[in-house]
Amino acid sequence: MEARSAQEIWEAALGALQLEVSKPNYKTWLNKTVGLGLRGSQFVVGVPNAFAAEYLDKNQRSMIEKTLIAITGRNLNALFQVNSRNSATEDETFTPRQTTTSRLNPKYTFSSFIEGRTNRLAYAAALEVAQNPGRSHNPLFIYGGVGLGKTHLLHAIGHVAQANHLQVLYASAERFTNEFITAIRERKTEEFRTKYRSVDMLLIDDIHFLGGKEQTEESFFYTFDELHNANRQIAITSNRHPKSIPQLQDRLRSRFQWGLIADIKPPDFETRLAILQAKAKQKSVTISLDVLEFIARWAQQNIRELEGSLNRVIAYANLVRALPTVEIAAQALEDIAGKQPGTTTPELVIEAVANSFQLTTIELKSQKRDRQTALARQVVMYLIRQETDYSLAQIGQALGGKIPATVSHACEKIASEINSSPYLQRKISRIQQKIHAEPKSGC
Ligand code: ADP
Ligand code: MG
Repeated sequence: MEARSAQEIWEAALGALQLEVSKPNYKTWLNKTVGLGLRGSQFVVGVPNAFAAEYLDKNQRSMIEKTLIAITGRNLNALFQVNSRNSATEDETFTPRQTTTSRLNPKYTFSSFIEGRTNRLAYAAALEVAQNPGRSHNPLFIYGGVGLGKTHLLHAIGHVAQANHLQVLYASAERFTNEFITAIRERKTEEFRTKYRSVDMLLIDDIHFLGGKEQTEESFFYTFDELHNANRQIAITSNRHPKSIPQLQDRLRSRFQWGLIADIKPPDFETRLAILQAKAKQKSVTISLDVLEFIARWAQQNIRELEGSLNRVIAYANLVRALPTVEIAAQALEDIAGKQPGTTTPELVIEAVANSFQLTTIELKSQKRDRQTALARQVVMYLIRQETDYSLAQIGQALGGKIPATVSHACEKIASEINSSPYLQRKISRIQQKIHAEPKSGC
């Protein structure tokens, strides 16, 4: 136990905590935390800012301590401390001509990226762009659903270019927007412009965030043109094809199609298995093939979920002090998560959402398109996707014959809106509690 590093202990704790709190809660408060160290009986958790430290201290301390005790067998107190390495990069404002190594995740490299049928084109194109910046595909536009490796590939490109002494700037579109707004407020637009237009390579993550933000789009448009004219490489990611990004200026839409567009689809079984094998190796845990296969069959939506399930199984095996067998994995993923495969049905979800939105289930399955009904229907699609193994087509069927593309669009839309709307986050989390509390037929 003592031989484990604080980070290893914390990763096991995070695996267990994922089961205790709602997904949005986990994402907001726990996702960016790290295990910093053990000081006597104090376990120091690094958090990105003072706000998160205060929240965790007030609201989740006892649950976290219980988890730490269960994992280490020691009576530990949790101490939440702002992780200065994190906060320094977050607070950094305008520092023209400085490389941004700090913002590239060292783990996101080409060598740690597992190639499979569904991400092959994106992977090959990213590698090509990294090795021949400005000369092959400009811009490179990668799109796909959440947790499928877009950010990972963008960082991987950045690492290679930096190793070749290029000046690389990586930023999410959200960050670009925030910096742009700050620059206007503080009358530092010149610095902002210099910062973004003086680099050899610009990597912009989640560009769909710009949709509808006219001034920022305008600024990005000029940045894009200036860099592109100078043959500087631009790589962009998005949750959807440029044609389908809502409220994006046409001139940007068309520019995004100048180079190469590559999509990433959810991984097939073989790729999921290969990823699990690689991740288990990275974590130095021995886990048998049948268990990995079990997890690969279980977690199907995206790679983040896949890794979460692996962490969960490892943490659970640790908690019950057993080797991770298929039975243990099944218990970890079924019992603890409160998620039993095959028992949550679309009907159950439709009913819970209808109640929450004060609509009838018939309205949800109808063609009614007023805002409230449309939103509720999208929440249904998102939740069925989250809570069951139903395919996009099957979900479409359950809602009166919607096509898979509509379902996929709805899932992505809600997944992204949850991040910006605490109201929706709470509403969905309540519906989920309801679904999990419901006695299920057939049990
Ligand atoms: P996205 O930006 O598409 O939402 P990320 O790039 O953040 O997804 O990926 C989510 C997690 O899954 C990260 O930890 C990433 O390293 C991992 N991941 C995604 N795709 C792969 C892959 N093909 N091989 C290995 N790890 C992957
Ligand atoms: Mg991403």
